[in-house]
Amino acid sequence: MHHIVQKAYIELFQKEPDFDANIKYSRAFKGFNANVRYTREVMHFRLSYQWKEISDDIKIGLIQSLLNKVFRSDKKTMNQELYEIFLKKVPTFSKKLESDPILEDSFNRMNELYFQGIFLKPNLVFGGNNFRTLGTYNYNDDTIMISSVLRKDQNLMDYVMYHEMLHMKFRYKKTGKRVVHHSKEFREWESRYHDKDVESKLKQFLRKERFLDIWF
Ligand SMILES: [Zn+2]
Repeated sequence: MHHIVQKAYIELFQKEPDFDANIKYSRAFKGFNANVRYTREVMHFRLSYQWKEISDDIKIGLIQSLLNKVFRSDKKTMNQELYEIFLKKVPTFSKKLESDPILEDSFNRMNELYFQGIFLKPNLVFGGNNFRTLGTYNYNDDTIMISSVLRKDQNLMDYVMYHEMLHMKFRYKKTGKRVVHHSKEFREWESRYHDKDVESKLKQFLRKERFLDIWF
């Protein structure tokens, strides 16, 4: 029995549940969708992956509204109120961010050069002057973040952009249960980048910039 479902049920019906239940997070759902499937003995709650980050209080409200449907009741709790307030805020929560035009150019260049323009534009934002994390792709909010350090060099920016776009391409690639972020196939694609010296240029650039960052 999943503790969140147990808590939700007891608060709703003032008794221990007489069934088993589990919660699974699924990337197949968009936004904050969720559903429940059940047999006499087991309830399977499936929540979109975005729910993972949300607090238990709000999740309990969601589970209770699903339990109400299953048991055809319309009991109201504080948690359900929280859940309803949360849902009203969702449109602002998941809205597209402004994309930076410099990054947009870089994205379009890489999209045309390597992907026949198939990718829809994600959110594109500059991060801080980070030397260690040059770029990230977050598939929960579909955002590529590029370190501001790379503003000075278009070639290197394109290379990191290309790398993050490969994460978009390979995001569902799984080997057994482990998600392989930089699979052999990923590395093979990465090596197609037109500037074959880009890795050494990147190292050199970072060494110089780090030095400037410390001393000036
Ligand atoms: Zn990576």
